[in-house]
Amino acid sequence: MKRPLLNRRLDGLGTSIFAEMSARAVATGAVNLGQGFPDVDGPREIAQAAANAVLTGKGNQYPPGPGIPELRRAVADHQQRCYGLAYDPDTEVLVTAGATEAIAAALLALLEPGDEVIAFEPYYDSYAANIAMAGATRVPVTLRPPHFRPDLQRLSDAITSRTRAILLNSPHNPTGMVLTRAETEAIAGLAIAHDLLVVTDEVYEHLVYDREHIPLASLDGMRERTVSVSSAGKAFSFTGWKVGWVTGTPAIVNAVRTTKQFLTFVSSGPFQYAVAEALALPAAYFETLAEDLKKKRDLFASGLKEIGFEVYQPDGTYFITTDVAPLGARDGIEFCLNLPDRAGVVAIPSAVFYDDKEAGRTQVRFAFCKRTEILEEALSRLAVLAR
Ligand code: PMP
Ligand code: GLN
Repeated sequence: MKRPLLNRRLDGLGTSIFAEMSARAVATGAVNLGQGFPDVDGPREIAQAAANAVLTGKGNQYPPGPGIPELRRAVADHQQRCYGLAYDPDTEVLVTAGATEAIAAALLALLEPGDEVIAFEPYYDSYAANIAMAGATRVPVTLRPPHFRPDLQRLSDAITSRTRAILLNSPHNPTGMVLTRAETEAIAGLAIAHDLLVVTDEVYEHLVYDREHIPLASLDGMRERTVSVSSAGKAFSFTGWKVGWVTGTPAIVNAVRTTKQFLTFVSSGPFQYAVAEALALPAAYFETLAEDLKKKRDLFASGLKEIGFEVYQPDGTYFITTDVAPLGARDGIEFCLNLPDRAGVVAIPSAVFYDDKEAGRTQVRFAFCKRTEILEEALSRLAVLAR
């Protein structure tokens, strides 16, 4: 066969860095601070709810296409309680196979080939793949250290007559940047002025430290043009369950559902019941989650600094971005490929999240959603890098 098997749109996307680095961690026995997943499962009563659902025959057969009514209601209640956002559970909520499918379905539904989508880089890896699948073009706007604040002038300059959407992620993976109210308002202003859609990836909405998460849809004039995406993975520490959701106007949810029904149709039946219960957990649950992670952030950030990493303190997510140049490294990819052998630790080179590889060449991301003793073990291993 002369033609390459993988189509041109996906050429170069290869294996996701998360799969590659987790496989390396397993093969080498290294401490895996690469792929972001907690090493302690979420609340026992929520796991029990999932087990009960399986054993009592709830969700073992295809659940309804838009998601079970209990979960749609719980998502709507959560948006109302946390942000004062009112959504009709029957027409304005759609349950998906994680945020990953929600974003894919949204982009495949809303984009025409040739459309441009602006996203801040570094960006989560599935964004580039989904934009490519839709035949659209990604237009990156670079966030730069030490604070990774969005450059709103550059964002404005990036808008053309072909721009269809802004794909926004706050709290931001991998940098941990959390958009301020003023920044969120400025982005909303641009979206309205240029009649753009905004897809907002809010999977880390409950992982914010001393900051406030401001959903774009809560700003004046944004509800009708915002596709809000979130999921249960991070907020409830069950990343394998893959229960996500979209909220938006009936027209938006309809469009996304049209695509979603031909991707997975439905997913995660019994887990949907458990996540409906999780979303109704008291505020204290979410506060404790964030307080616990904040302590881990502080412990791990100060340990990395002592070793000699340049550390960019995150305001949200469970990732810390560092610069390894002070340790004498010139390339983060090479650094991460050697790290399991040198130090018995796995991390993610942030360059893979950039189109402008130079901008992220020496940045390396660590996940700190691990038990304290594991973080301490990782730090003691990384100490061999100290100069
Ligand atoms: N968006 C971002 C920014 C993420 O970090 C992740 C993490 N996996 C996802 C989306 C995907 O979420 P899910 O596991 O719910 O598909
Ligand atoms: N969101 C997780 C991360 O950024 C991993 C998700 C995945 O493996 N695709 O590390």
